[in-house]
Amino acid sequence: MKKILITGGAGFIGTHLCERLLNDGNEVICLDNFFTGNKQNVIHLLKNPYFELIRHDVTTSFFIEVDEIYNLACPASPIHYQYNSIKTIKTSVMGAINMLGLAKRIKAKILQASTSEVYGDPIIHPQTEDYWGNVNPIGLRSCYDEGKRCAESLFMNYYFQNNVRIKIVRIFNTYGPKMHPNDGRVVSNFIIQALKNKPITIYGDGTQTRSFQYVDDLIEGMIRMMNSDDSIIGPINIGNPNEFTILELAQTIIKLTNSKSKIEFFKLPQDDPTQRKPDITLAQKNLNNWQPKILIEEGLLKTIDYFKSII
Ligand code: NAD
Ligand code: UDP
Repeated sequence: MKKILITGGAGFIGTHLCERLLNDGNEVICLDNFFTGNKQNVIHLLKNPYFELIRHDVTTSFFIEVDEIYNLACPASPIHYQYNSIKTIKTSVMGAINMLGLAKRIKAKILQASTSEVYGDPIIHPQTEDYWGNVNPIGLRSCYDEGKRCAESLFMNYYFQNNVRIKIVRIFNTYGPKMHPNDGRVVSNFIIQALKNKPITIYGDGTQTRSFQYVDDLIEGMIRMMNSDDSIIGPINIGNPNEFTILELAQTIIKLTNSKSKIEFFKLPQDDPTQRKPDITLAQKNLNNWQPKILIEEGLLKTIDYFKSII
């Protein structure tokens, strides 16, 4: 039985990771400050004697003995990470320093939940891991993008300088049950709007693209990465290369929910990336042929069922 720390474990992805690692027979310690996550997400796990929930902010140091650390703590939706942008930078940077320091001291393996946002508004398409990105360092998204880029740099330097056993995954847009209903992300927004027969809010003309991955596929990829040989440190893209325009996504969700919603167009936010699609060759090669299995309609139907149950 491994002892595993998950920072940001009460958030959307963290909750799925806690559940899966407990089901696999591990002991899980979930650490969260409940900024965007909440106790409700993990309340069903509290009766499991191998699960512990700790309220803590990763910007201050934390001591524990564990075998592995998954570092997920950081608000992920533009609305949430821009709400207190300085805190977002602190969470990414000081959170990484504190968790890497812990990993170094206790010789634990540590995985960083990085993001496709390190590629910014990418000029290379699809994005390969060797692309350095096109990020505006002073724009509205920079608190998140540059915070995550600095965290990657910290991970690499703790590896080079201190031989810390690091793993970096770059996560592309992920959706599924337990997404925060008010985080403003496109999948949750469109599903809730469609279920309420309210206008679907497309920012810009809807031609910008994203590639959406169902959360179970991500969790499988993250766990395979953690369990991979120490020589595999990443960064490795984890995402579903199925690319859609935001307009196509809106139409699919309207169809799947039998909604009467009409599409309305609004101003595009600053620095909104025009295209995004992962090249997953490296993940397939290094993670035992990992590849996403859940098709978009299947994943959206599961997510729609979840939102029906909570609204
Ligand atoms: P989320 O907002 O649901 O989860 C983040 C969790 O971190 C929340 O539970 C929040 O309360 C916690 N947290 C925030 N600041 C903290 C702090 N200072 N100390 C302790 N806990 C803190 O977001 P998510 O979608 O589950 O994302 C999880 C991770 O995956 C994030 O690091 C995010 O950057 C990364 N990621 C997510 C996506 C995606 O599409 N969901 C894509 C790329 C990367
Ligand atoms: N988007 C949209 N309507 C919404 C929410 C988002 O058109 O109600 C767009 C947004 O401008 C972006 C895409 O959908 O182009 C994905 O947005 P999200 O915030 O989910 O993720 P990110 O931009 O971080 O990839």
